[in-house]
Amino acid sequence: MTVIEGQTNVRSARFGAGAIDGIGQELGRFIVTTMEVPWRLAQPRLGAQPAAVIFVETMEIETLDRQVAGAPQCDTVLAIGGGQAIDLGKYLAWKRGLRLVTAPTILSVDAFVTPAAGIRRGHRVEYVGQTSPDPLVIDYDLIRTAPPELNIAGVGDLLSIHTACFDWEIAERAGKSEYPFRAEDVAKARAILSDTMAKADAIRACSDDGLHTIVEGYMRVNTICLPAGHYRVEEGSEHYLFYELEERLKRPFLHGSIVGLGVRLLSRLQDNRHAEVVGFMDAVALRYHPADLGIRPEDLIASLLNLRQYVGGRRDLWYTVLSERDISPSWVEAALVNLKF
Ligand SMILES: [Zn+2]
Repeated sequence: MTVIEGQTNVRSARFGAGAIDGIGQELGRFIVTTMEVPWRLAQPRLGAQPAAVIFVETMEIETLDRQVAGAPQCDTVLAIGGGQAIDLGKYLAWKRGLRLVTAPTILSVDAFVTPAAGIRRGHRVEYVGQTSPDPLVIDYDLIRTAPPELNIAGVGDLLSIHTACFDWEIAERAGKSEYPFRAEDVAKARAILSDTMAKADAIRACSDDGLHTIVEGYMRVNTICLPAGHYRVEEGSEHYLFYELEERLKRPFLHGSIVGLGVRLLSRLQDNRHAEVVGFMDAVALRYHPADLGIRPEDLIASLLNLRQYVGGRRDLWYTVLSERDISPSWVEAALVNLKF
C-alpha cells in the first residue's frame, strides 16, 4: 500500500486477503461488537473466542450506555461489521479507555477511520469520543463476502467532497465560513475525489484495487480534516439532507447511499457539475435512488421543502448552499424527474 503522509487516525493497518485470520490470538481478553451476518462470517477466522459478543441493537445513546454498562472487563474491543457495529465498538472503547481494533466487513461509511463515534440522541446524529484503530484490518476477501452494493456505497463519503467543498467556498465568499478557509485543503480534497473517480471500474467490480481506493481515500481525508479540526471538505448540504430524512422517518439508512442521494440533489441546487457527478455514481452502480433506500416520494418532497428551515433551526450546522438558495415546489418537481421511486 502507498504510504500516506500525515495524520490518518490509523495507528497501524493490515491490508490483504486473510488479514483478519488469527487476530483474536493477539488481543488478550477481548469483546466483539458486531451484527449477525458479519459475525457468522468472521467468527471462524479469529483463532480465539471473545469474552463477550455485543450485537448492535440501536445507536440511541440509552441503548449504547446500557450495553457499555453490561460489558465484561477486557483489554481490547474488536469491532467487526458495517458502520453501526464499528460505531458501537468505538463508543465502548472510548468509554472504557480500551484498545480498539476495527475490521470493517463493508465499506459503506468512513466510520472505521474517523475518531468520533456516530451515535443517536432522539434520532439525531451526534459524534462523540475519540478513538484510533490499532490495527485497522482490511481483509479484502472478508469484505467481498458482502453484497457488492454495500461496498460500492463506500464512495458516498468521498463523493460528498464534491458538494461539501463547494459549500465551503460559498460560505467563504459570503464571509460566513465558521473556520479559516484553506484553499489548499479544498484542492487536496478534490484530488482525492478525482483519484477515486478515475477508479470507477475497479470500484464497481469491488476488486482489491477498488476497495483499497476507498479506504485510502478516507485516510487521506483524515490527513486534511484532523489537523484542521473539522470535516468541512467532506461534509456539507448533502449530509444535511440525510439528517433531515433520518429525523423525519426515524430510521437509519445505508450511509453511502443516502449521501449519494444528497450529492445528486444538492449538486443540482449548487449548479455544480451535476451531470458529471451523477455520471460517476451511475458508472460505479451506487444505489442512491429513493427506491433503493425505501423512501416514498411524498417523504422526499416534504424533506426537501423543509430542508432550509431544518438547517436554519440547527445552530451546529454550517453555512452552505441551503443558506442562500431557495427550494421551491417547482425546483423539487424538476429535481425528482429522473429519480426512481
Ligand atoms: Zn458521512
